[in-house]
Amino acid sequence: MKAIHVPEEIFAIGESLIRFIDQEVVPLENANKAILASERTIYDDRGRFTPEVDALRREVRERSSRQGFYTMFGPEEIGGGGLGPVAAVYLNWLLSAHCGPGRVLIHPVVIPSPFTNGLSPVLTNLAPEVRERYLPGLASGEKTLCFGLSEPDAGSDVFAMKTKAVRDGDGWVINGSKQWITNGPYAEYAMIFAVTDPELASQRKGGITGFFVDAKAAGFSVVSTIPIMGHLGAEIGILSFTDMRVPDDQRLGPIGQGLKVALQGVNTGRLGLSATCIGLARWALDQALAYAKVRKTFDKPIGEHQAVQILIAGSAADIYAAETMLLDCAMKLERGDRALAETSMVKLHCTEAANRVFDRCIQVHGGMGLTNELRLEEGYRFTRSMRIPDGTSEIQRRTIARELIASGVNF
Ligand SMILES: Cc1cc2nc3c(=O)[nH]c(=O)nc-3n(C[C@H](O)[C@H](O)[C@H](O)COP(=O)(O)OP(=O)(O)OC[C@H]3O[C@@H](n4cnc5c(N)ncnc54)[C@H](O)[C@@H]3O)c2cc1C
Repeated sequence: MKAIHVPEEIFAIGESLIRFIDQEVVPLENANKAILASERTIYDDRGRFTPEVDALRREVRERSSRQGFYTMFGPEEIGGGGLGPVAAVYLNWLLSAHCGPGRVLIHPVVIPSPFTNGLSPVLTNLAPEVRERYLPGLASGEKTLCFGLSEPDAGSDVFAMKTKAVRDGDGWVINGSKQWITNGPYAEYAMIFAVTDPELASQRKGGITGFFVDAKAAGFSVVSTIPIMGHLGAEIGILSFTDMRVPDDQRLGPIGQGLKVALQGVNTGRLGLSATCIGLARWALDQALAYAKVRKTFDKPIGEHQAVQILIAGSAADIYAAETMLLDCAMKLERGDRALAETSMVKLHCTEAANRVFDRCIQVHGGMGLTNELRLEEGYRFTRSMRIPDGTSEIQRRTIARELIASGVNF
C-alpha cells in the first residue's frame, strides 16, 4: 500500500502501531470472537456495551497507552506525546486503512477521538493542581472522557444552548442536558459547556463557560444511548444534570470563554476524523479491486466491464484528492497557519467522498456488498454519519464561503 508521504519518524510510529494491532489487538479480538461477532452480544438490551465488551475496550486502551499510542496526540504540557496534525492525519488514516470499519476494539479505542477523549487539548485549561488529580487516569486509559457541547435544541447553533451554570458559594450549580455525546454513556468524566451569562449568550457574544465534571457527581445522569443507522447500541448518548454542583476550580478556562476553550484542537480533530474516513475508503477500494478481478459475469471478470471501471476510477480519484488535501492542510496547520477554509474543505470533502466511495464499492460487490459479513455496509453507515458531527457539511460550506468572501481565495 502506498502511504501518504510523511516524515520518516512518523512513518516508523505507523509501523509499530500496525505491529501493535496485529500482535496484541487482533489476538484479543480472535479470542473473544463469540462476543464481538454480533451486535446482539456487543450491546445489552439498553443499547450499552456489555460489561465484557467494556472490559475488553479498557484492556486495549491500557495496552495502547503503555505503548504510547493512546496519548501520542495529547499536548506535551499535560503529558501527551505532542504529535501534530501531519502525524494525526497519517496515523488515523493508516489505522483505518489497515483495519477497516466495524472493529469495536480499535475505533476509537486504540487512538481516542481527537479532543473529545483521552488527553484532549481542552484539558490544558484545567488548573494545574486539578489536572494532577485526573490526568493520570485519563492518560493510562483506565478512565475516559466526553465532550458535552450539543443539546436537543443546540447543535449547529451552539448559542441556543439551554444548560445553565449558576454561581453558588465557591462553586456552580448546573442544570440542563446534553445530547449526541460520544462516549457520554461510558465516560467517568465530562467536559460540559453551560451558559453563565444569558444576556451575552443571547447576543452571541460569549457567556458560555466550560466545566470539568465527575460523572459520579450528584445530579449527573446518563439518560440513554442513541443508537443510529441500524445499530443495536451506541457510543453516543444523552446526559442530564439536575442541581449538579461543580467546584469553581474545575472550571475549564476563564468565565465566559467556553466556546474558545471548546474549539481548541477542533482543527486537528476535524482532520483526524477526515483521515479516518479516507483510510476506511481506501480499505473499501482495496476490497472492490480484489473482487472486480475474481468475480465473473458474461464470461469475464467484472473489472473488465466499463461500468464497473467507472465505479473504481471515481473512487480512486475521490481518495487521491482527499489524501492530497489532507496532507496539505495538515502541513499548513503544523506550521501555525489558521487554515480555516482549508480545514472545512477537508472535512467536507473527505467525509462526503468516503461515503461516495463506500456506496460505489458496495455496488461493485453486487448483493455481496450488502451483507454484514463484508463490513462495507458498516463503513457506508459510519461515513454517512460522519457528515453530521464536528460541523455538518452545510456548516463547513458556510465557513468556506464566509472565509472566501472575507479574505479571497488564499489557499
Ligand atoms: C455520531 C455523532 C457524534 C456526535 N458527538 C458529539 C459529541 O461528542 N459532543 C457534542 O457536543 N456533540 C456531538 N454530536 C452533535 C453534533 O455536533 C451535532 O449533531 C451537529 O453539530 C449538528 O447539530 P444538530 O444535529 O442539532 O443539527 P441542526 O443544527 O439542527 O441542523 C439541522 C440541519 O440544518 C442544517 N443547518 C443548520 N444551520 C445551518 C446554517 N446556518 N446554514 C445552513 N445549514 C444549516 C444542518 O447542516 C443540518 O442539515 C455528535 C453527533 C453525531 C451524529
